[in-house]
Amino acid sequence: MEIIVHRGSHEVGGNCVEIRGKSSRIIIDVGLPLFDELRNPLDGFGLKKLSAEELREKGILLDIPGLFEMDRNRDLSLSEQPAIDAIFLSHAHFDHCGLLPFTRSEIPVYASSITSKMMLAGSLFANQVCLPQGRHRKIKDKQTIQIGEFTVTASSVDHSIGGCLAFQVESDGETVLYTGDLRMHGRKPGMMKEFIQSMSRQTIGTCLIEGTHIGLPNGSTKSEFEIESEFIDVLKKSEGLTLMSFSPQHIDRLVGCIRAAKQSQRILVVDAYTAFVLYLLSTEIKVPTIELDANMRILMTDATRNKLSNGKLAKLRESWESKLISRDEIMKTPDKFAMMFPSSLFKSVFEGRFPDQTDLVYSRWSGYLEQSGMKEIVEAISDCGGTTHQIHTSGHIFDFDIPILLKQLRPKSVVPIHTFEPEQLRQLHSG
Ligand SMILES: [Zn+2]
Repeated sequence: MEIIVHRGSHEVGGNCVEIRGKSSRIIIDVGLPLFDELRNPLDGFGLKKLSAEELREKGILLDIPGLFEMDRNRDLSLSEQPAIDAIFLSHAHFDHCGLLPFTRSEIPVYASSITSKMMLAGSLFANQVCLPQGRHRKIKDKQTIQIGEFTVTASSVDHSIGGCLAFQVESDGETVLYTGDLRMHGRKPGMMKEFIQSMSRQTIGTCLIEGTHIGLPNGSTKSEFEIESEFIDVLKKSEGLTLMSFSPQHIDRLVGCIRAAKQSQRILVVDAYTAFVLYLLSTEIKVPTIELDANMRILMTDATRNKLSNGKLAKLRESWESKLISRDEIMKTPDKFAMMFPSSLFKSVFEGRFPDQTDLVYSRWSGYLEQSGMKEIVEAISDCGGTTHQIHTSGHIFDFDIPILLKQLRPKSVVPIHTFEPEQLRQLHSG
């Protein structure tokens, strides 16, 4: 079994790993990079607009025989390579799945049902890529499937989006573990305990472990439970409307926010994107939904109404009618509400000016705050007499948790990926 890290060995994001045997090949993750060579954040929205040729020119669409549509004719002459049997996606973040639309359409894509749903929601509301249903092969926690000479087993792991899987690939008595993105400080400690227990019962040859925080500071080292407590604090003390800024696909954070709104006796106003994510998740895991939860209302903008105008989506929208709330209703008693805040609402709903004493809870990576759209919003919060509270914790395993996890997994060798500084793992993990 040969492991080729096409991308992600000395950078955070852009994961693409190939496992090659005598007659089979599989690819795990086909991500877009997050940073350039100088480690400056790339403009994700800009990248998503580029063609395959433009991405190839920038060195982003790698030349991996058999994988990308644009190389199909050229690949015909490379018959010595076995074809790619399958793509496995660990989760729906674009640095793991962003190049999927450029891959050859006959290659099946194995991913969890929640990953496919998060990609659907992201494609509808956030300009992200979707997983075509015809290509999707569902794989779930603890399921084992045979792909050519490889036996692949999926395991659920905790990260800042729902549906994440680690993959264990076995062939000829060798085992490779690809952890995907994961962490030990989320809302699902039981899930990680189960993952460790099941891995420690076997011998792992090579472990490809995510190492975002090797060489990047941990930032705050709070758990998701502590984030929920801080949400409650702010929501109780805030004297005006409180805006909540984070991705609705971050299920741990969303659950924490829903619970915090309840605890502080505020109604949580969600946007259509959040309501749609909760609707999709409701058949997968136990979450409150907009239809049933008395503490949630929905604010629909014209843009989101248009996105939900056909067939099943229109029916879903109709089912939300009784839960709709208008801007005027919020403005009458703003201190009664917490509100999911996609930054587009600043112009479309607030017309560039927030009501007095509106607070913003910014619960994303601080790097995004520097971007121009957010700067303007933070200024407007200050202008209305409000405060911006940064309450966030990483979606990735802290550097000090990596040696603890590795001690339990006991792999023979470790390859840190999704990190700028893989070599620094030696200092963290002696032996
Ligand atoms: Zn991720």
